[in-house]
Amino acid sequence: MPELPEVEITARRIDAAVRGATVESVLAPGMNVMKTFEPPLEALVGREITGVRRIAKMPVVEFGDLSLLIHLMSAGRLRVFDKRASLKDRASRVLVRLEDGRELRLREFGTKQRAWAKLLPGDAVAADEMVATLGPEAWPPPPLAEFAAAIDQPRHLHPLLRHQRDIAGIGRSWVDEILWEARLSPFKKGNELDAPEIEQLHAALHVLGDAIDYYDETLGPDLPDKIPMPLKVHRHEGEPCPRCGTTIEAVFFSEHQMNYCPKEQTGGRVLKDRRLSKLLK
Ligand SMILES: [Zn+2]
Repeated sequence: MPELPEVEITARRIDAAVRGATVESVLAPGMNVMKTFEPPLEALVGREITGVRRIAKMPVVEFGDLSLLIHLMSAGRLRVFDKRASLKDRASRVLVRLEDGRELRLREFGTKQRAWAKLLPGDAVAADEMVATLGPEAWPPPPLAEFAAAIDQPRHLHPLLRHQRDIAGIGRSWVDEILWEARLSPFKKGNELDAPEIEQLHAALHVLGDAIDYYDETLGPDLPDKIPMPLKVHRHEGEPCPRCGTTIEAVFFSEHQMNYCPKEQTGGRVLKDRRLSKLLK
């Protein structure tokens, strides 16, 4: 699932590729993909793409005073293709055909159709419910006091940091990296952190910026559907911690997993496998 660093590099690369290109036609083959109907997609015909940016984990494609706000959900991808998609391509959700023959394509893999897009007047984007309800962006990091206020809650850090309304941009992969970088337990609660721990966690947000820099340096102009993420801990169970050599452990949930270094993050404690505990009940 694309998170802040992956969506940021996607927006940068697509911006570099299509800024200034003119729209020839727009199609939305994905059923229910468009969450708005006014203005209609046809309003984009003849317009120039004036920029591509990111809000939290959402790409925004700007066409002058109209903006296409996109939510990729878990399996959506935005990419520029040299040729037009076959109309039989079942992954197609929104196709922005450009006069130069290229196509900006929102696709979604898998059977679920959950990715969506909204075409909004540019000045209405900030007021859209998905944008207006977001917490501060995780990168660039908010000021320390703002960050401290955002996480001052009686909830475990792992879900808290992934909750877009508290802090925006972090998902299931980068949360493990941030908590490992901060040497904090995923089961510590936000409001249990002391001042130095809040500072550690705030400072650890640099892993997001590092990832963006890494992508910028290593990836070409056309990004693959699956961006190779430079993760050190997430999905690395059984491997030595890159910092202290202790074996990285995992906690599995029905749809995701959490990884951590027991020596540095949980005081040596290995946390229970949630799947197993459920089965034993
Ligand atoms: Zn370690």
